[in-house]
Amino acid sequence: MSKRTRTQNPLTRLAHAGREPARFHGFVNTPIYRGSTVLFPTVAALESNTQDYTYGRLGTPTVTALEDTIAELEGGHRTLLTPSGLSAIVTSLLAFLGEGDELLIVDSVYRPARRFCDNVLRRLGVTVTYYDPLIGAGIEKLITKKTRVVFTESPGSQTFEVQDVPAIAEVAHRAGAILILDNTWATPLFFKPFEHGADVSIQALTKYIGGHADIMLGALTATKEAAAAVTKAHEDLGLCPGPEDVYLGLRGLRSLGARLERHQRSALAMAEWLATRPEVERVLHPAFPTCPGHDVWKRDFTGASGLFSILLKPVSREAVAAMVDGLDLFGMGYSWGGFESLILPFDPSEYRTATHWTHKGPALRLHIGLEDIDDLRADLEAGFSRLKAAA
Ligand SMILES: *Cc1c(COP(=O)(O)O)cnc(C)c1O
Repeated sequence: MSKRTRTQNPLTRLAHAGREPARFHGFVNTPIYRGSTVLFPTVAALESNTQDYTYGRLGTPTVTALEDTIAELEGGHRTLLTPSGLSAIVTSLLAFLGEGDELLIVDSVYRPARRFCDNVLRRLGVTVTYYDPLIGAGIEKLITKKTRVVFTESPGSQTFEVQDVPAIAEVAHRAGAILILDNTWATPLFFKPFEHGADVSIQALTKYIGGHADIMLGALTATKEAAAAVTKAHEDLGLCPGPEDVYLGLRGLRSLGARLERHQRSALAMAEWLATRPEVERVLHPAFPTCPGHDVWKRDFTGASGLFSILLKPVSREAVAAMVDGLDLFGMGYSWGGFESLILPFDPSEYRTATHWTHKGPALRLHIGLEDIDDLRADLEAGFSRLKAAA
């Protein structure tokens, strides 16, 4: 990275990083490369192993363009793409863990990551220990001689506890362990993982980077020291995302700044309104003092994206169904980060093990899309009327 690019604002870099129009006949965007075989002109070229591209699985110019852009935004040494956010998590864990090692992983972690740890890592002889997301420096008590990796996700993408990543990283590093962070919620625009102690940062590009609910894609970004292990695991596991998804990831990324700013503004407005509703007991949005870890969010983050949760006062399942089933603009479905608003009932008591979920009423996660917020508010207002009628 040149001095000039390092001083430019990330919003400027979003538009210019990873692009070399002169290499592509002046076309602004790096084209989609499809291919398995890459030809070598001579035996000497084959043997020297210095050609930029050698085989489709190992990268194409489209892949490099997105990897370089993400590495620059996150502030890491190297990024590798994977076919999903989950495969990025899996790769990061397999890069560092083996039989006899211990993993400390946050209790609020993305649930499919938890399943991988319980189903696969335990079978491979890794000790998996869950910890309270608000543990901070107190994680010291859980560190053993076998602790090799501490996995964080801040904030948790259902319950929104913001983790004290610098404090946890400090303890992990003193014990010789690696700190992995899932940075999907904040994106590198709102949280700089490597300035807060991460060795590896993961993003589900499926969410805000893609931004249009039409791709599956992940990224793993590492420091210089961690890059070798991550690169080796990535190659050994045979991971390569489809060229179309990589292109769409890059295309989505170009407008991330504008989209995220609006997601942030609309989500804050909606959360403020929801906090005044009689049906809502609590708003779990990192920018609100009612969210666990709010002070850490204020200290470490430069913004908030469009995903948060609300806890309703106790009411029947039927009343929640009446509210959600009849919504017009909010769709119900997994994932988030697209242009459209989503709502999802959830119950963390089903899977938490290190902490207790004490809230008695239903919980709803909302993703605030790019729609007009008066329309979104009217949709939820009608939903609350149905909830009341069915209660
Ligand atoms: C969605 C998500 C993932 C997984 O991404 P996929 O592309 O769906 O595999 C990982 N972490 C978080 C926080 C997510 O929200």
